[in-house]
Amino acid sequence: MKIGRFQVLTQKPEQDKAAVHYGIVDGDRLSEIPGPFHSLSPSKLGASWSLSEVKLLPPCVPSKIVCVGRNYAEHAAELGNDPPKEPLIFLKPPSSILAPGDPIILTPHSERVDYEGELAIVIGKTCSRLNNLAEAKSYVFGYTCLNDVTARDLQKKDVQFTRAKGFDTFCPFGPFIETDLDLSATKVETFVNGARRQSARVAEMIFPVDVILQWISQVMTLFPGDVVATGTPSGVGPLAAGDVVEVAVSGVGTLRNPVAAPE
Ligand code: ZN
Repeated sequence: MKIGRFQVLTQKPEQDKAAVHYGIVDGDRLSEIPGPFHSLSPSKLGASWSLSEVKLLPPCVPSKIVCVGRNYAEHAAELGNDPPKEPLIFLKPPSSILAPGDPIILTPHSERVDYEGELAIVIGKTCSRLNNLAEAKSYVFGYTCLNDVTARDLQKKDVQFTRAKGFDTFCPFGPFIETDLDLSATKVETFVNGARRQSARVAEMIFPVDVILQWISQVMTLFPGDVVATGTPSGVGPLAAGDVVEVAVSGVGTLRNPVAAPE
């Protein structure tokens, strides 16, 4: 099942356009559901709209975005790093979240802003100090596409990742959450202006989803709607104003964002 979050552009009066809805995607239509993390029941479908009538929002509202660094061996190598012996985690602030279709705004503080296409996990129930790896999947609500936009020069300069990864608009994700995904067959690919720049099977990840969740949950409680980005494959590269960057996760969809110069 694919879940989206949206506002209805064709709604009248004006204040109703601001109302935020969750819905199940069926073809080119979205049918409203009460909210995904408590009562996901297709039998309770409400009003429905065509995708052309809505403005898609990031498909959930995370309290935090936890990222895994260097989780593909070839990507670690391309930046001159050894593959990590244990998961390397960092945070992106919720203020960096960006809706599908909205522009990534470059920053005058960086000479090189890179795309990083990633599979992201959306948490479905509160997860703390998970011990049994076999239970990890029960905390997963679904999966989505995420672009871990990174000011590469600042990442190297600061050592800490906070500034490089934390600019406003540097965390587009969506367009939908897929609740049923076979990770053994899933690919993540990134395209810039239609040219493929990254492509890998998520099965190539050094630390798989269950290990990542166990690791993070020893440190911090994960809440429903929290997002965990699982790392980017090799092939990272810079973005320029005017580019269109797409992160495609097979079985999930394509996250598309234009890139704009700072004002
Ligand atoms: Zn990343």
